[in-house]
Amino acid sequence: MSEQATPSCTIEGIGASPGLTLGRAFVLDRRRLRTPKLRISETEVDTELMRMKTAIDLSDHQLQELKEQLERSDGKDHALILEAHRLMLRDPMLLDEVNRIIAADRINAEWAVRRVTRKLKHAFDNIADEYFRERRADVDFVADRVVRNLMGQVVDVAVEVPEGSVVVAHDLPPADAAMLARTGRVLAFVTDVGSQTSHTAIVARARATPAVVGAVRASETISPGDLVAVDGTAGLVLVNPRPEALKGFEAARARFAELEQETLVLRELPAVSTDGVRVRLLGNIEFLEELPSLLDHGAEGIGLYRTEFLFLDRSEPPSEDEHYACYRTVLEAMGTRPVTIRTLDLGGDKVPGNRRWEREPNPAMGLRAIRYCLSRRDLFRTQLRALLRASVHGNLRVMFPLISGMAELREARSELEACRSELGREGVRVGGRFAVGIMVETPSAAWLADRLATEADFFSIGTNDLIQYTLAIDRQNREVAYLYKPLHLSVLRALEHIVGAARTAGIPVSMCGEMAGDPRYTLVLLALGLDELSMTAGQIPVVKQRLRRLSRAEARSALEQAMRLSTAEEIERFLDETVRRIGLAEVPA
Ligand code: PEP
Ligand code: MG
Repeated sequence: MSEQATPSCTIEGIGASPGLTLGRAFVLDRRRLRTPKLRISETEVDTELMRMKTAIDLSDHQLQELKEQLERSDGKDHALILEAHRLMLRDPMLLDEVNRIIAADRINAEWAVRRVTRKLKHAFDNIADEYFRERRADVDFVADRVVRNLMGQVVDVAVEVPEGSVVVAHDLPPADAAMLARTGRVLAFVTDVGSQTSHTAIVARARATPAVVGAVRASETISPGDLVAVDGTAGLVLVNPRPEALKGFEAARARFAELEQETLVLRELPAVSTDGVRVRLLGNIEFLEELPSLLDHGAEGIGLYRTEFLFLDRSEPPSEDEHYACYRTVLEAMGTRPVTIRTLDLGGDKVPGNRRWEREPNPAMGLRAIRYCLSRRDLFRTQLRALLRASVHGNLRVMFPLISGMAELREARSELEACRSELGREGVRVGGRFAVGIMVETPSAAWLADRLATEADFFSIGTNDLIQYTLAIDRQNREVAYLYKPLHLSVLRALEHIVGAARTAGIPVSMCGEMAGDPRYTLVLLALGLDELSMTAGQIPVVKQRLRRLSRAEARSALEQAMRLSTAEEIERFLDETVRRIGLAEVPA
């Protein structure tokens, strides 16, 4: 215990990586770096510019070394983040601006770096998309390294983290999180800032290390050596817990362990209802790091790979070979299981590289997804060529996002075929025909489902957007979040219509929006007759468990009755009661 242990308290944050663990706090304080602010004379400007150049070169060299270390021990994924940091170092928005300020305002390099990064971070603050906003942490990581090098300070966390540590930090750069997790001595991470989509959270999840992020002022509240109980599922941090709180925590930990055991048992069992209806459960991924977890949770394939995440953290779009390498990795990891790769859903809030600063007046209805790709053919073709090349390595399915009518589907398909012919002419090996489907996530596509089903090989319903557009509520806007109702009658009618159209045309229909992974809706989805549900890895066992306790026949009759009601609240209440009433049967293993 530390000399001055913190009084018992509970800090609430965001559960970013599930699991419960108890350990001693290891507080990493990277904020205490005081940046010297000095005015310089005109004759000192050249020296300052030279110091800056040396610090950049040194930082670059360190990052290159770190990257090589990580590549040797950790695979390529985390190393890619470091490569992005190296690009950031050389980005004119940082470097040219720092040099300009040194010369124009006659200030020392450390101060200039801080001023420019503050401005850059401010630009990130104004980005609505949470994921991109979180990239502020990467700007900090790079700037911190440069400033420390300018000041001749030790840069890397060459820290002796003791066995059984809970690492507490204001913010933890993903590279540090990856390295710390790799030591095997870290039990959990707690950070003051961050969200579920911050890179550190992703690294923690990929490493199955419990993490709580957004735990406000944890790094100031917690002292080194404090006993810390971390609940990465509920997002709670108990500091020096009292005996009764500790007892409660231990009980929760035992429950979690039990649940994990159940999960292991479920992994081998099919997702089948009590009356024998089989529903395939697949996984959604954004990063390759999530593959092991998907397999551990028994995913029967990938229902959605959000490839636009390949564009994050970099100023240049990935090359065809980089796309290809990623797709090949995913396909090979999944063997014969289907891998559904969605073409880029860029635009709107997710604008790549140097266009990141552009804002559209109404991004959700702007140049997004397939519209963006059809207006940026170079990007689209690069991806399509890579997909065609990768198709030889597994069971590929390709789908186009945000299709709103037949013309878009035809245009996208014809671009794919043009790429196939082009590769053929170049003598490049391409796999056979693979399924080409669409995301049904606009009301327009829902209304046209009967037509689209004649030219799409499958449907995947994107409820996140379908609900947003059907109910006319911005999915990013907290003010209208209360209206976001998956069981709204208009949503249910749209879903029924889409599934019906797919059935009539004889094409498979799946769902990959958040609704698919929420056990509250499993009954409805079973009743509607979806062939596949795709969700994040951790949701698969719970949905499977629910599915194995329901009967399709009962679910159908419940849905029919529910759809005679009028409000989402009435429908929710009715279905909750039904689940309580009928959802008890257990299918024999
Ligand atoms: C959806 O809209 O439901 C979906 C899966 O796509 P995204 O969340 O990436 O927009
Ligand atoms: Mg969508």
